[in-house]
Amino acid sequence: MSALEDEIQRRGIGMTSQRTRERLIERLYEEGLSSPRVLEVIRRTPRHLFVDEALAHRAYEDTALPIGHNQTISQPYMVGRMTELLLAGGPLDKVLEIGTGCGYQTAVLAQVVERVFSVERIQVLQDRAKERLAELKMRNVVFRWGDGWEGWAALAPYNGIMVTAAARDVPQALLEQLAPGGRLVIPVGAGEVQDLLLIIREENGFSRHVLDSVRFVPLLNGPLA
Ligand code: SAH
Repeated sequence: MSALEDEIQRRGIGMTSQRTRERLIERLYEEGLSSPRVLEVIRRTPRHLFVDEALAHRAYEDTALPIGHNQTISQPYMVGRMTELLLAGGPLDKVLEIGTGCGYQTAVLAQVVERVFSVERIQVLQDRAKERLAELKMRNVVFRWGDGWEGWAALAPYNGIMVTAAARDVPQALLEQLAPGGRLVIPVGAGEVQDLLLIIREENGFSRHVLDSVRFVPLLNGPLA
């Protein structure tokens, strides 16, 4: 590598430097994320590897970014918020994620729970996510190309389910695949702004908590090649 290339690469790394990441963590804390564990995991997860190189310099802004196929990488605050909600009931063994996308939320989950099962309808997005997690040596994730409305019945029940796309209403299959005491975090609504819901499987039925107003891309129907 020439001295110039070397310098360009060094500066490139500078944009995603520890200081930039540190500023993001401070901001997330100010915005209300409170779990030191979740903040630490966001600090050490290299978000710039989950977006196109052209957008890498914006990877540590607290904003959603395009990842192609009309999809986005979620805002770090929302990734942290949903992770905190899922973990608030205690440690989780099996977690189902609907909407792998670029795999960033998957990577965060993989560091705070035992096992992650992640379903995505766009195969190429999932293939790339799979490669990234392999590079990061995260081995406790299993991927499935399929329709999130159906969950992943063969491996149910799950202690936690996280949906990272907005559903018109709560998919029945996901309620059925929740273990007793299990927690489902899901944006619900048909408009541009949706309600973030936390649904807990209680001894008799489900409790339902409406939390924040959020903006997610829609949970669509069926897998796509
Ligand atoms: N979790 C991602 C964000 C995902 S964006 C992150 O960490 O940034 C939402 C994702 O849900 C998209 O990749 C979209 O293709 C996927 N999706 C939409 N409808 C789906 C469905 N029915 N089943 C599975 N995945 C779906």
